[in-house]
Amino acid sequence: MTFDLATRASELTGSVIDSSTELLAQQRHDIVRFAMGAPSEDLIPMEQLDKLFSHMPTGRYDYGESAGEPALREQILALSEQMGNPTSDDRLVVTNGAMQGLDLAFKLLVNPGDLVIVENPTYPNGYQTARSYEADVVSAPVDSHGLVVDSLREIVARSGKTPKVIYTIPNFQNPTGVTLSRERKTQLLALAEEWGSVIVEDDPYGMLRFDGTDVPSFSSLGGHNPLVFRIQTFSKLIAPGLRVGWIDVDPELQKLAVNAKQAMDTCTNAPNQLVVAKFLQQGHLAPHLDRLLPLYKERKAAMNQALSETFGESIRMTDPEGGFFLWATFMAEREQLDTQELFPAALEEGVAYIPGVAFTADNSQHNALRLCFATSSPDRIREGVSRLERAVLRVQSV
Ligand code: PMP
Repeated sequence: MTFDLATRASELTGSVIDSSTELLAQQRHDIVRFAMGAPSEDLIPMEQLDKLFSHMPTGRYDYGESAGEPALREQILALSEQMGNPTSDDRLVVTNGAMQGLDLAFKLLVNPGDLVIVENPTYPNGYQTARSYEADVVSAPVDSHGLVVDSLREIVARSGKTPKVIYTIPNFQNPTGVTLSRERKTQLLALAEEWGSVIVEDDPYGMLRFDGTDVPSFSSLGGHNPLVFRIQTFSKLIAPGLRVGWIDVDPELQKLAVNAKQAMDTCTNAPNQLVVAKFLQQGHLAPHLDRLLPLYKERKAAMNQALSETFGESIRMTDPEGGFFLWATFMAEREQLDTQELFPAALEEGVAYIPGVAFTADNSQHNALRLCFATSSPDRIREGVSRLERAVLRVQSV
């Protein structure tokens, strides 16, 4: 039987990251996991969460408000204030993870054929969502200070249209780990004003800084500019399986997002929202992050050092000040190494990563790879890098 599908269905190509999860789950041998962007099980505050789940108010299994449980919204307001991004309740919608925030953004903002600028490299589920709404997705380069804002005018001139959305991951970007500088944020806000473009500020990692100083968010620099659509999540702060995130947007968009949610999932999982609310209200987040961040810092350093000692001049890495990932690019005599072709050998050797091309909307970055340092101990990281070396030597013995 053949289906008469909607044209946009052909854009639902599926996430490389999700298929890697499935592939990894099928493996029966020991694998050092640099692929997924998730904390390891021992870093999830399981005991506290389990306790909170067993002490929940009555009514927890009812349908909740589509904008989110009031108790959680209250905690998000307090957290935002604490983080230097004060906001108001009429700007908030609790979502099923940051992913739903992205879906809402593109659903509300993009018509077929609209130009959406994304970073190269970027989080693939972001541009795939834009494409599912039939956007014309064009990539702009990223360097060690984040999105190269100076490149945008030329991209716009070449496209012959101004962008409807500029999608950026400003802090410890997925996949590179780089952070967009304050200067570039100010520049980008000015361009967004000029073009009437919305900046989708996808910020799951901003609170995971272990070095350096915070760069103010677009929302705080822009004074709640209506052109900023801010997305956050508890997935990387507490646990990804909770599927609780939120958006902070102009009140007019907030109302539309609530209506869109009513047609999607009606409300976000209430028990999980209530647990997150209690976790925050009881003050567990700060000590939890105090425990995690020094570990992530140590793991990042171990990964950078192991890569540099193992591959020397033939690899270049980013040096993130927070988050989960670093980005490695093969250079010099290894410049032709295709990390997608390397992947089966790496898996056989017992190490997993995500090939660079998966993070591009234009089929580039073939000699790069994303490595998650957050999931493994320094010893496991060293072991994983030496397995990576064995795989590299198998496919390219230069
Ligand atoms: N945006 C980025 C940049 C991410 O890295 C992720 C998670 N990998 C998401 C959005 C989705 O987050 P969530 O799991 O909360 O849906």
